[in-house]
Amino acid sequence: MALTLHTPRMNAVKPSATLAMSAKAKALAKQGAPVLNLSAGEPDFPTPACILDAARAVMGQRAQHAYTNPRGTDDLIAAMQQKLLREQNVQYDATEVLSTVGTKGALMLAIDALVGPGDEVVLFAPYWVTYADLVRLAGATPVVVHTRREDGYQPSLAAFDAAITDKTKMVILNSPNNPTGAGWPEATLRAIMNRLAGTDVWVISDEIYEKLVYDGFTHASPASFSDDARGRTVYVGGVAKAYAMTGWRVGVAAGPKLAVDAMLTLQGQRTTCATALAQTAAAYALRESDDVMAAVDGMRAAYAKRRKLVLERARAIPGVQAHAPEGAFYVFLDVGSRLPGRRNGERIADDVALAGRLLDELHVATVMGSAFDGPGCLRVSYAASEDTLNQGFDRLAKFFGELTSA
Ligand code: GLU
Repeated sequence: MALTLHTPRMNAVKPSATLAMSAKAKALAKQGAPVLNLSAGEPDFPTPACILDAARAVMGQRAQHAYTNPRGTDDLIAAMQQKLLREQNVQYDATEVLSTVGTKGALMLAIDALVGPGDEVVLFAPYWVTYADLVRLAGATPVVVHTRREDGYQPSLAAFDAAITDKTKMVILNSPNNPTGAGWPEATLRAIMNRLAGTDVWVISDEIYEKLVYDGFTHASPASFSDDARGRTVYVGGVAKAYAMTGWRVGVAAGPKLAVDAMLTLQGQRTTCATALAQTAAAYALRESDDVMAAVDGMRAAYAKRRKLVLERARAIPGVQAHAPEGAFYVFLDVGSRLPGRRNGERIADDVALAGRLLDELHVATVMGSAFDGPGCLRVSYAASEDTLNQGFDRLAKFFGELTSA
């Protein structure tokens, strides 16, 4: 008898395009190719030394090698509560917070705990690759509300309203957004939350990029808007992006006890807890002592400079348009007016073919917009040095200079 996979589940999911592009870029670089990696949604900075020191100081202790409470260590629970009060302006009881294996872990637990077959989950496109797959894995159906570059990737409330049906069980918000970098003002988020008031619809608010904002943009947290909003919102965030701690894999979740209890049960059966030593480092980061803040501010200043550079270089390429992102570390290049195209006699049909060519021939790694339900676009990450970005855009400018209409 032939061995088989569980087909329905595996048909619901595909490999993460962001991780795939990044892995391919790294593999090419390992073979000696001069790869410029603008695909990774990962800080190019090391974890700040003060956070490493905090972990190093305790790593010999037995507790750092043992299971922790599935919710997290007492230290991390307290640090998460303080952070959520300080920055989200929401007071959470210790029973309403949970540390997870990365922010992806928090999303997975929340989606699995709260939706299932027959349920619809509203997503705003372009959306981060993983949301739709996690929704399908849970057996639920993604319902997509499209946003447009021309509108700064702000949502149409009429389109949002039209997407809500009696099957809607969840809405996923992500401001600042991956892949567009768009940040939604408080008024927009409030309008969305007001539309949901009194319904039985959960909200996941993915705020992982909350600290990486530019040009005076103010981040707002939906759970802080009202008792109704707090009661339906699961906040997810973490330490990966702002503190350059991607590989430590610690996420933060907070929400009403009904949701968090269920997430805790799932975590206890799946991964037990986030890594003990990583929780210690995360607690140190979240407390934001002066040394942590100095490091975070330094990284944010570097991203702000690079963001300007990328926008200038991108907009200098004929036919390429880009929204100035309010946050995160991505610029979403709209190259739709240049596609389909032809270069060296070969047709380039769409953004998927384009991203493939850019990597294979120019050794510039980006991510195709289609991976985020944003066809005709390329995501460029500026979590890369100015030198890498400049070299990358030299190659991109040359490529687009050679691209004719098909
Ligand atoms: N979130 C990052 C990205 O979008 C990391 C990779 C991933 O988990 O998708 O590139």
